[in-house]
Amino acid sequence: MQAVLTVDLGAIAANWRLLRDRAAPGLVAGVVKADGYGLGAGPVGRALLEAGCRHFFVAHLAEGIALRAAIGPGPMIAVLNGFAPGGDEGVGLLPVLNGPGDVAAWSAAARAAGRRLPALLHLDTGMARLGLAETEVAALAEDPGRLAGIDLRWVMTHLACADEPASPLNAAQAARFAALRARLPAAPASFANSSGLFLGPAFASDLARPGCALYGINPTPGQPNPMRQAVRLEAPVLQVREVPAGTPVGYGATWTAPRTSRIATVAAGYADGYLRSLSGRATGILAGHPVPLVGRVSMDLITFDVTDLPAGAPAVAPGAMVQLIGPGNTPDDVAAAAGTIGYEILTSLGARYRREYRGA
Ligand SMILES: *Cc1c(COP(=O)(O)O)cnc(C)c1O
Repeated sequence: MQAVLTVDLGAIAANWRLLRDRAAPGLVAGVVKADGYGLGAGPVGRALLEAGCRHFFVAHLAEGIALRAAIGPGPMIAVLNGFAPGGDEGVGLLPVLNGPGDVAAWSAAARAAGRRLPALLHLDTGMARLGLAETEVAALAEDPGRLAGIDLRWVMTHLACADEPASPLNAAQAARFAALRARLPAAPASFANSSGLFLGPAFASDLARPGCALYGINPTPGQPNPMRQAVRLEAPVLQVREVPAGTPVGYGATWTAPRTSRIATVAAGYADGYLRSLSGRATGILAGHPVPLVGRVSMDLITFDVTDLPAGAPAVAPGAMVQLIGPGNTPDDVAAAAGTIGYEILTSLGARYRREYRGA
């Protein structure tokens, strides 16, 4: 008996179309880094392609090479972490140039190749993570020859606090981005991530880069989620046992049955990305009814208290599937219980699930 991860590609395609309509007349890319946020960059990439997406972002060169094999030639694939010239093995990936060293390397490579090489240029406007700092943009502005040979397809920046609409950093970043772009050769702009698409017209650009919202994570925390759920994780009950009051359950004996209890042991654990910090805090759904996780999350097993299933609910037996993530216990809900964000829940999903893809 194996856990099953069901990915609804139709929901992901619908989420992309919703964001496309929000961003119009700007274009909308699909961010499929980290194996499509854990859901499978190949199937997700093909579903987005079918929905009309023509611009993709990954983080690593190897992710870009794999995505190119999955979606074929044509669509743009940009590599956010960048890569050295000659690294893309001819499959036509675009590097994101994240600093003056990257710019120099690609300009030199263009000179050596005797042709212009396409790239994106990343400007830092408030994250101090990657991207050219203001002084580095100033140096480029003074000596535009440093960009010689680079075919500047997009100039991009990334929002630090897009999921906090009240943060003054959002408007500050928009203003800095406009000011820095004005000092550089004209190129289309790429700005908003998922949450940025919900911040208003000042965050519109030629190419938005949503990731999490495609996968059903709420881009507007604290407000109703406009996105469709795309993930369901179900794991099988291995055993059901009745324990008397006073029985400790699981490692560390952190939970003790307060009454005669029925405990269902389920085949998933932290090795499957069901984070240990969910111990005693998560909720499963069994035959439509919420059941509390009790005790610690172990590597391969978790335990639910199924004592209170309503009369009339089917008897719990080995093989019954408990929904660990899905409607009613969304990635955002599970993340809140674990003290993290939905992104981490999705990108932690393990390799021991049978993966099923529902059609786009
Ligand atoms: C991950 C990432 C995105 C997508 O962000 P979401 O919050 O998942 O929409 C966009 N741009 C950059 C530079 C990123 O690193």
